This record gives sequence, C-alpha cells and structure tokens, in this order.
Amino acid sequence: DAIGTRTLLNVQKDAIVCGTRTKVARNPNMERLPNNYLFPEIEARQLEHEKKYPDAQVISLGIGDTTEPIPDVITKTMSDYALSLSTLEGYSGYGAEQGNKALRLAIAQKLYPDLAVKDTEVFVSDGSQCDISRIQLLLGSKVTVAVQDPSFPAYIDSSVIIGQASDLQPTTGKYQNIEYMKCVPQNNFFPDLSNASRTDVIFFCSPNNPTGHAASREQLEQLVEFARENGSIIVYDTAYAAYITDKSPRSIYEIPGAREVAIEVSSFSKSAGFTGVRLGWTVVPEELLYSDGFPVVHDYNRIMCTCFNGASNIAQAGGLECLSTEGVRALCSKVDYYKENAQILLDTFSSLGLKAYGGVNAPYVWVHFPGRRSWDVFSEILQKTDIITVPGCGFGPGGEEFIRVGAFGHRETILEASTRLKSLFL
Ligand code: PLP
Repeated sequence: DAIGTRTLLNVQKDAIVCGTRTKVARNPNMERLPNNYLFPEIEARQLEHEKKYPDAQVISLGIGDTTEPIPDVITKTMSDYALSLSTLEGYSGYGAEQGNKALRLAIAQKLYPDLAVKDTEVFVSDGSQCDISRIQLLLGSKVTVAVQDPSFPAYIDSSVIIGQASDLQPTTGKYQNIEYMKCVPQNNFFPDLSNASRTDVIFFCSPNNPTGHAASREQLEQLVEFARENGSIIVYDTAYAAYITDKSPRSIYEIPGAREVAIEVSSFSKSAGFTGVRLGWTVVPEELLYSDGFPVVHDYNRIMCTCFNGASNIAQAGGLECLSTEGVRALCSKVDYYKENAQILLDTFSSLGLKAYGGVNAPYVWVHFPGRRSWDVFSEILQKTDIITVPGCGFGPGGEEFIRVGAFGHRETILEASTRLKSLFL
C-alpha cells in the first residue's frame, strides 16, 4: 500500500551509512524485502501519540505474543532438567537433530491420534517461523508459491529471501511471481480455487493469522484435491490449532489424501506460552514425493541435520511435559483464558455494529471497516481510545479495510480496552 511503500523507500534510503565499505554486493533478494515496515511504523505512531498525549495510558492489542505465565508444572520440569545438566548422570550434549525420540513419539501419538503420523515423520525444532524458512531452503528458489491474502508475513518474506519472488509492485502491493489467494468474508475466507493458478507450493494457515478463520473440513477437502490435481505441496501452518473450538480439523492429515501432498508446521508458542522458550515441530509424511519419486522427508532430514543442530534439550523436556495429562490440562486453561479475551473483544466490536470475524477458533479478531483504509482506522482508534491495533494491510493487500486485534493480554487490560472502545469509539 502507499504508506507501506513510502516507508519502505525511506527506510532503505535512511539505512545507507557513510563509512568504509566492503566489496560485497547486497543480496538482491534482501533488497526486495520490505524492511518489515509494519511494526516499526506502528511503534513510531505510538511514540508520536504518547508524545502528544503524555498522560495517555496506551493499551496494545497489536501484539501476537503471549502474556500469561507458563504453567508451573511445565517450568518445574524444565528447571529440574536444567539443574540435572550440572550432574554427571544428568548431563547431555548434542541430541538428535530431529528431536528427542520420546517427544517425537508423544507429538505423533497425542497430537495426531488415529492419523497415522509416525514419530520418524516429526521433526522437533526451535519454532515454526524457523521451520518455514528451512522449508524454503529445502524447496529452493525455482518453485512457484501461493499464499492466502491476507497472510502471516513470514511466508512471503521467506519466499522473497530465497529468491522465489520478483519485485514488489507498488501499485498492487503484491510481488510478481507470488500467487495471492484472496480470503475475505465474501468467500468465507477460503480462496476461489477454480480461479487460482497452479503453483508448486501453497502456504495455508488455519486457524489463520490474521483473520482468525479456521478452515472447515469441506474447505480443506477442496484444498487437498486442488493440490493433488496440480501436483502441489501444501505447507500447512497450525500454530493456532489449540484454539479450535468447533469441529474444524486441527490437522491437514484429517483430510484423506493429504499425506501425499502436505507438510505441516506447528508450534508450542501459542498453546504453551513458549514464544520465548522456542519449540515447534514439522511433520513430513513418508508418502510426500518429488516429481522424480524421491521422498521429501529424506531431504528435510538433511536440512535439519545441516542447518539445525536440534532444539534445546531444556525446551524439549518442557515440551514433553506439555503433553502429559497434567500439562495438557494446564495448557487448556491458558488457551481458554485467551479465548475468553477474544470473546470479549468480539462482543465489543459486534456491539458497535461492526462485523468482526475470527475470535472463536483463534486468538485474533478481524474487524471490517468497509470502504476505509486500515491505517486510517488504526489512527482513529488510537486517537480516540489510546488503543494500538494492527492495520490489516500489513498482512497483504487483501487486509485493507480491516484491523487485527489480538486477544493476548491480561483480563483487566482487555476489559479496559472493551470499555474504552464501547464508550469512545464511533
Ligand atoms: N505461524 C503463525 C501463523 C504465526 O502467527 C506465528 C507467530 O506469530 C508463527 C508461525 C511463529 O511461531 P513460532 O513462535 O513457533 O516461531
């Protein structure tokens, strides 16, 4: 969008520094990347607002980071494990690059019950954002890629970095060579696949960041069929699966035929509050083959061995505890807490007569302001209520007219935000 592009150009120009230079040319793919203008721009606007109104008690509903403490049954296990590293019997160094066997097995059995996921198909990692980039490294620069529009920025950014995309088109806000699959209320946040071009790879996130929409079984059946017909690979991101309340599938492997066409990335970040601890995993089924019949899982294993040396053993001990009976119970109560926050926000926007989506199967509420630019809505909300949101255009051109509101926050903050919105906004 115009603001984004203008900021991008300024940031790029401002970053040039006078001084002794090396003879190394900048990677042209990095030059193509928007300099992550969204959050710095939000921060700059927040600072400007606080300077103008020094007494303002600014509330941020913009963050996608967890706020509630990790249940102590999990931290206790991690701390015991960490202390045992100081003993001869408890010390261990490098572990398996693919992850600790017990954790791989627990993920396969407890998170994919009856879905035939094997422990050897689960690769434990330091989080799904890192896995997305490693998958891009696996796929290389020659593949064509589709993303939902709007979408979590890591898919496009990693695609640009690896060299799959051409230049950003300032008029459309889209990269050449990337297929943007529009997901809006009119199509129930699911792309019209009859009009979508074939690509090698389809990044698909459900429940979705930012729209909060969880794809239904029927929608996912269409997606898998589309991938099978086109011989594409789906990279399915379930970072928010723990938030699913209704009957929407929690894994792409609930759809028959998905094992031949889909990789799944997931994370302990938003269920266990592990955004700082760092732990995720990727499933690569044995049946997923390249055009020459070579199994993708062998290459992914190679990537993990070469570009990653295994997740922190302390984090993995915590991950295993997350999947114990007590751990699961503790996590569910945290997730429920954020879901109640989301419901408060959803009700707040609905009571203002606005169409608000998501919030039921995800910790994000996606609010529609028809005909308005999302940065203008962001500014108006900040001006009137001292609340920070995220302008939807930051997630792609399909996010224009929307703002994203996050349900991560302490209850009293969410209630205060709700009161302000109800009494000050509109
Ligand atoms: N995928 C989605 C859709 C996300 O929203 C996020 C984080 O916000 C991630 C992945 C990153 O997760 P992790 O903390 O495991 O890297």
